[in-house]
Amino acid sequence: QAKAAGRNTLCFFDPGMQEAVSARSAMEADMRQALQHGQFRLLYQPVVNGQGRMLGVEALVRWNHPQRGNISPAEFIPLAEKTGLILPLGRWVLQTACRQLVSWASDPLMAHLTVAVNVSAREFRDPGFVEAVLAVLEATGARPTQLKLELTESLLLNDVEDIIAKMTRLQMRGVGFSLDDFGTGYSSLSYLKRLPLDQLKIDQSFVRDVLTDPNDATIARTIIALASSLGLSVVAEGVETVGQRAFLLRNGCEAFQGYLFSRPVAAVALPGLVASPLG
Ligand code: C2E
Ligand code: MG
Ligand code: MG
Ligand code: MG
Repeated sequence: QAKAAGRNTLCFFDPGMQEAVSARSAMEADMRQALQHGQFRLLYQPVVNGQGRMLGVEALVRWNHPQRGNISPAEFIPLAEKTGLILPLGRWVLQTACRQLVSWASDPLMAHLTVAVNVSAREFRDPGFVEAVLAVLEATGARPTQLKLELTESLLLNDVEDIIAKMTRLQMRGVGFSLDDFGTGYSSLSYLKRLPLDQLKIDQSFVRDVLTDPNDATIARTIIALASSLGLSVVAEGVETVGQRAFLLRNGCEAFQGYLFSRPVAAVALPGLVASPLG
């Protein structure tokens, strides 16, 4: 049948492929519903200093699907990017995180916390992105200096001048920028110097074996040194053991995130964690 359709005709008769396509469009429809019906929620993972004191949190989105249960963002974020649903979803995440910041402002133990929001390349490249962020800050009354946006190196593959211009506009209002999963992408060192960044996040793939794999140890040390010489702060992601923390601390890392301190938790659990050192 495929042959009869001719050499240059795309053929969709592979049943496995058809299944994948329809599963994807079912999930896309579900995601639209989920946005309307409030099935997404945000968890917050503490970022701590060398003494285990909470400096801030990273907002991480969760989808509780009525039939399929919890779906990992690693699964639905890429689909949201492909379909464009990342734009309304990203807006919701930003709004929810900023409202959370405002609700902490009146609590002396919570008022200093920063909140980091992940922004995918597709969102950042949207022509309305800067205005959208400013509008959310304005509408919620959140302080821009307590908001960090986490970008990944994949953003830097093209239009770097435009990216820098957008980052600069937000930075002038006080918004901070972290480069997430650093070391796994393609950023050239010359861009790194020019981007208005505040922070590098060492990817958890380097942290995992930092005590046993000399290459990972070298990479982690190099990222810490690079951040320091560029005047950036550095956060180690995926810290699970006291040994990993000790190694990173000894090598100049000053902020940490990972299961050793806390898993991502609901906002209501944070006041209980902020009072005493974690880890
Ligand atoms: P990420 O931004 O690098 O977030 C860190 C991920 O590592 C989170 O996975 C977190 O739960 C996990 N993690 C934290 N500590 C540890 C640890 O000690 N060990 C291990 N093994 N894992 C740890 P999560 O929540 O499943 O998110 C996965 C990715 O999905 C995020 O990676 C981010 O790229 C994306 N993502 C999550 N929320 C959002 C969002 O609101 N918007 C966008 N655009 N992307 C998001
Ligand atoms: Mg992140
Ligand atoms: Mg990361
Ligand atoms: Mg990641």
